[in-house]
Amino acid sequence: MHNHSTASDGLLSPTQLIELAARTGADAIALTDHDTTDGLEEALAAAKRLGLTFVPGVEISVSWGDTTLHVVGLAVDPSAPALVAGLASIREGRLARGRRIAEALAKVGIEESFEGAYALAENKTMLGRTHFARHLVETGRVKNLQAAFDKYLAKGKPAYVAHRWAELSPAVQWIRTAGGIAVLAHPGRYDLKPMFRDEMLKDFRSAGGEAIEVVTGSHRPEQYAHWQRMALEHGFLASRGADYHGPGESPIEPGRLPPLDGSLTPVWSRWAH
Ligand code: AMP
Ligand code: MN
Ligand code: MN
Ligand code: MN
Repeated sequence: MHNHSTASDGLLSPTQLIELAARTGADAIALTDHDTTDGLEEALAAAKRLGLTFVPGVEISVSWGDTTLHVVGLAVDPSAPALVAGLASIREGRLARGRRIAEALAKVGIEESFEGAYALAENKTMLGRTHFARHLVETGRVKNLQAAFDKYLAKGKPAYVAHRWAELSPAVQWIRTAGGIAVLAHPGRYDLKPMFRDEMLKDFRSAGGEAIEVVTGSHRPEQYAHWQRMALEHGFLASRGADYHGPGESPIEPGRLPPLDGSLTPVWSRWAH
């Protein structure tokens, strides 16, 4: 229930992603690109052809205080006007942010990274840090994607540029008015003290969020039990998704994650009967 394509920062086209999911034996798959629904139509056509259940989704970038959170919307209607306008408003800031990332990289001696990253972004309205990271790998500045984030692009590093994304409550509302379910993505990945984690879950719930990811490629397996407990304690539905970005970049392919524990209510119980 969480995967990327070339419509955002994935390496596979929507069609190639669905073909991979069919090969790994998944019976259902969601496409959840960052701040865009551009890949959904193509993915749906491929899923129909291959007999997979397709769940149209999106992963929205949100600013919660100084922390960036990701909120996945599942089973959304991509033509819903509030969602369309909201996503467009987030994407608008991405090119200017890209310029600032490039300026910051220039200060540490890396020139012309905007052009490099931009060339790697297939969807020119969805330029992200991953494109910069791939450019740094391709030009030999770092040995892999992780090193690009660790050395330059992660929070606290020289080319990190603070950016204001959507506010939590409107983002959840865009998902809900599009008929979808709001899922807090990889809750274990945010750099928050325990007290703030609890507050994040409460704020997400009061904003209208209904589910959290428990089993995800963006959690370490030893984190699953904690977020399972949080889902049960806070009464959230649970989701499971690879957060797949492409071959060589994501360790877990769609369809190859461990199952959710039987004590949890899966988010797909909402639409799969
Ligand atoms: P952006 O929305 O442009 O800030 O990019 C966020 C994306 O960067 C995430 O969805 C990941 O794909 C990628 N990312 C962030 N941190 C890391 C990291 N430490 N290692 C690899 N990829 C990362
Ligand atoms: Mn990403
Ligand atoms: Mn994410
Ligand atoms: Mn993701």
